[in-house]
Amino acid sequence: MQNLIIKTLIYDKQVRLYFVDNTKLINTIISLNNETNKLQKLLLGKTISVVSLMSGILKGDHRVSLQITMSNPKYKVFADADAKGNIRGYLNEGLRNASSEFISNVSLEQLIGDKGNIRVIKGSAMNQFTGITDMPYQNIVDDISHYFIQSEQTQTFLGTNFGQNLEGGLLFSNAIFVQLLPGAPHHLIDVIKHIFLTNRDFFNDLGKNKNNIEEKLSELFEDVKIIGCSPVQFFCGCSKEMFYGMLYALNKGELRQAISKKESIETGCQICGRTYSFHPDELQALI
Ligand SMILES: [Zn+2]
Repeated sequence: MQNLIIKTLIYDKQVRLYFVDNTKLINTIISLNNETNKLQKLLLGKTISVVSLMSGILKGDHRVSLQITMSNPKYKVFADADAKGNIRGYLNEGLRNASSEFISNVSLEQLIGDKGNIRVIKGSAMNQFTGITDMPYQNIVDDISHYFIQSEQTQTFLGTNFGQNLEGGLLFSNAIFVQLLPGAPHHLIDVIKHIFLTNRDFFNDLGKNKNNIEEKLSELFEDVKIIGCSPVQFFCGCSKEMFYGMLYALNKGELRQAISKKESIETGCQICGRTYSFHPDELQALI
């Protein structure tokens, strides 16, 4: 059941609860960022874990993008998802190149600080909605719940389990997304939150269950009905064409030099690590 969002309604259809075991997805993305330390992996992993669940509430050609800016605006994390569960995420250059002395000695709370903010961009290319909220919890996950409550006026709880070894390697990752449907009593969100926070091992094991998820969830919640599932996977939409633009920005002298030496120019995507090579004949077309 890895990399599959399990969508359920609980408590007599008053609450929607989505669960995902996204260990594989996060491992894929973290391995593309293998130069990073434990905190950088945690930042990226938690952000992707949340955005992967948010893909489950998208429809049609809608997308969602998260931009998390730390108190020092030099440091940012980006992640986005579409309704097909195509997920990607990356640390900005400032964060990737942060000195190891700084990044090894700062906590997640300290890095986010009291001026961190989350920008959420949702919708289709034609019709976008942007919401910005502060980060009072300084831990990403509770701050996204805060975003839903503040900006979308929906009672929401997001919870993640994210296990790392000492080097920052991922041991497990799973998450739940809970939203009260109109008319549901408000206290239900606290009931579910409490159940999640006191049964972390249960959720770490849940992804290993192939068929009896409804039965398993019924041990914790009332009236569980599975209403569907949808996949999540890493996908970067980059293409060679996109990188022609970057080559245009190089000065013509550099291009001419490569052509005269019959050398290719290589360029890489920061998100997925794919490299694109431009042959001198292709460079010729640019000058
Ligand atoms: Zn790419």
